[in-house]
Amino acid sequence: MTRKVIFCDFDGTVTERDNIVAIMEEFAPDGWQPIVNDILNESISIREGVGKLFSRISSDKKEEIINFVLTRSKIRDGFQEFIDFTKQESIPLYIVSGGIDFFVHPVLKDKLNPEQIICNHSDFSEEQIKITWPNKCDGLCQNDCGCCKPSFIRKVDNQFSDYQKIVIGDSITDLQASKLADVVFAREYLIEKCEENNIRYTPFETFFDVIHALEKEEVRS
Ligand SMILES: [Mg+2]
Ligand SMILES: [Zn+2]
Repeated sequence: MTRKVIFCDFDGTVTERDNIVAIMEEFAPDGWQPIVNDILNESISIREGVGKLFSRISSDKKEEIINFVLTRSKIRDGFQEFIDFTKQESIPLYIVSGGIDFFVHPVLKDKLNPEQIICNHSDFSEEQIKITWPNKCDGLCQNDCGCCKPSFIRKVDNQFSDYQKIVIGDSITDLQASKLADVVFAREYLIEKCEENNIRYTPFETFFDVIHALEKEEVRS
C-alpha cells in the first residue's frame, strides 16, 4: 500500500451543511447572499468574501454562534469510523478548512488533535467579527484563498516524500487542492468543478464510502 496523507475539507464535507452559510442565514443582516454568490462564481476571492461576510456580524454573537453550530451542524455519517481507520492505518489526516477556528475546533474537539486542524482564525476584540489568516497563500498560489489548501499541501510535501495525496471535499475551496491531489473524493459542486477541469475523482456520500474505496484501493486517479 502506498503511503498516504489525507487532506479533508470541513464545511459541507465533515459537516453535512456549509456552516458559514448556515451562520449567515441565522446571524447576518440581509445582503450576505450576493457575497456568497460572488465567492462561488469566483468574482471575488474566498479570503475577501469570507472576511466581508463575518464583518457583518457583531463580535458579541460569538458564544451564540458556537452553540448554534454545535447544536445544528450534523456530522456526515462514518466520520468517526473514518478517523479510527486513519489511525489504524497510520495515515496522517489533516482537516484543512476555509472555516473559522471558533466554530471548527469545538465541533472536532475530542475527535482530533488541534495540530490536525488547519483553518482561519478570528478576532473578537472589535465591534464586528474580524477574520485573520494565518494560513495564507504561498508564492505559488495567486488565488487569495484565505486558508490556502495548496500551500498547506506544499508544506506537507516537505515532510514526506513519495506519498499519495488524497483530497476530500465538496466545493470551490477544494478545487485548487484537487489539482495537486493524486486521489480526489468529491461531492456536490466539486464534482462539477472536477468535470470542468478534467480532474479524476471518486464520488462519495458518506465517510463509509471513502473508507471502503481506500480499503479496496478502488479510487480513480
Ligand atoms: Mg466545503
Ligand atoms: Zn491559495
